[in-house]
Amino acid sequence: MQRRLPRLLTAGLILLMAGLFVAAFRLNRNNYRASIGTVDTSFVQLLEQQAEGLREEIKKQEAGLFSKLESDALSEPDADLFIVRDNRVVPGCIAGLLKTVPEAEADTAFEKGLAAPPGQTSLSHFQIAARRKVSTPDDLYRKTAALFNVLELERNTRTICSILALLNQTDPALTESQRRFFRSMLEEQVPDLSGIEERASILWETATAIDRNLTRRKGAYRAESNGKMLSVREDGFTVLYSPDIEATAPVILTQEDGQGRHEQIIPGLFASIPSQTVDEAKASIGKQYRTGNIFLALMALLGTTLTIGLFAAAKRQRQLDATRTQFIATVSHELRTPLSLIRLHAETLKHGRVPDEKITDYHQTILTEAERLTGIVNNVLDFSRMERDNLKINSEPTDLSALTERIAYSFHDRLEQEGFELERQMESGITGLVDPLAYSQIVFNLLDNAIKYSDGGKTIRIELDVSDGWNILRVADQGIGIPDKLKKHIFEEFVRSDDSKVTARRGSGIGLSVAQRLAEKMDGTIEVTDNQPKGSVFTVKLASS
Ligand code: ADP
Repeated sequence: MQRRLPRLLTAGLILLMAGLFVAAFRLNRNNYRASIGTVDTSFVQLLEQQAEGLREEIKKQEAGLFSKLESDALSEPDADLFIVRDNRVVPGCIAGLLKTVPEAEADTAFEKGLAAPPGQTSLSHFQIAARRKVSTPDDLYRKTAALFNVLELERNTRTICSILALLNQTDPALTESQRRFFRSMLEEQVPDLSGIEERASILWETATAIDRNLTRRKGAYRAESNGKMLSVREDGFTVLYSPDIEATAPVILTQEDGQGRHEQIIPGLFASIPSQTVDEAKASIGKQYRTGNIFLALMALLGTTLTIGLFAAAKRQRQLDATRTQFIATVSHELRTPLSLIRLHAETLKHGRVPDEKITDYHQTILTEAERLTGIVNNVLDFSRMERDNLKINSEPTDLSALTERIAYSFHDRLEQEGFELERQMESGITGLVDPLAYSQIVFNLLDNAIKYSDGGKTIRIELDVSDGWNILRVADQGIGIPDKLKKHIFEEFVRSDDSKVTARRGSGIGLSVAQRLAEKMDGTIEVTDNQPKGSVFTVKLASS
């Protein structure tokens, strides 16, 4: 149950995280869809708003032009202002002529004009007289005469334009002599007549062109005329102009209703958002969406890895704690056995209860067990130094043949007691640069293991020779052997075979790791191979000096 809990917790946490990430992915997707929807709506809104603003601007410009038409149109040379009357388009400058009064009223006004002292009063009388309705050539003559009176009192372009129009009128028309007379009068009074006449004739030409294009609808309307905008007011006032408006990005002004969203501002002019702009905005949202997903995926991966790593670390820590506890228990147990034997034998000796012929045996047992105790304690001490990275080696030139012989001899009684035969094949006089204590510990551990894991085969062989510049020590037994799978791991700390023949024997799993570390510290190696027909061979290689 205790073991299952962390696993359940890990699984729960991973599930929770998976749930959270799925929710986050969904949220991201929904956001993406909503944003794509918003792009369309907001572009449409933007377009409508701008279109509305542009229409307003055009209305303003139109109104400005109409008000000019109501005043003196030709004083603005670039103003294309016209008027539609009796199904005919005429320049706006003659607008005044088109508001007519009956002949009688005109005659009276003319008389009054002549009688009144020159100034505002006579001007207004002559202005009324100049609106005379024209039915006969005589009416035309009088109308022209009245206009000349107006011109004398207030010289303006509109009046000149009107006189020119009357001089050119055909039905009814002035006589040739009348026309010439008025013409020379006009030339006399207006020094820049040719300039005004030129502008007026352009306006008449344009009026004729518009006349051809005009759709002749009733009421106010707008139309396109030769690439310009034509606005016709309810009362027939007409303006032809190029609107001066500008859209702000991403809206553009086009003459055609191309692809993408568009709104007609006036005939022939569209405010439009190119479909490319909308596509780009959507693509950028798509990119954000994908980046978000990648980010979430990375987070999910990181989260999962972290969780698994965290629990693996916790598991490893638990295993380590368990191993250490087990180690302490095993070592204590290992120490207790030789200690109690030593104590038992010493006490028996002390009480003099040992027959004389056995006394030497008792001493021997005490010595053997003390030896074993030293071996265990040295292993534990070296191991603890290894753990703290504090394992020091003091190498010195050493007679390995003699030292190995001494260690082997220290096992003599134990081997004899347990019925082992130790075969020695050691060259004498082999020397090496080693730490004698470390070397002794390696040999002790190997011989100790050879005895411990014997399994019936009672011959152990120890060899020492020199080969290829190496001092080579071999300890071969005929014991239980080591399966290949385990061979790679037995030099790791706390690793013991789970074979019952191993677990039945005392051991803490640090002897070989200490031996390997000591050998490495002396620039050597240690390895294990199978012995024939059974058992293991441990080979230690150390540099010969
Ligand atoms: P310990 O002997 O205290 O278990 P060691 O580190 O000395 O620890 O040995 C580790 C393991 O290697 C042993 O538990 C055993 O499984 C295996 N082993 C070591 N020496 C021999 C040997 N001579 N024969 C068979 N197995 C061995």
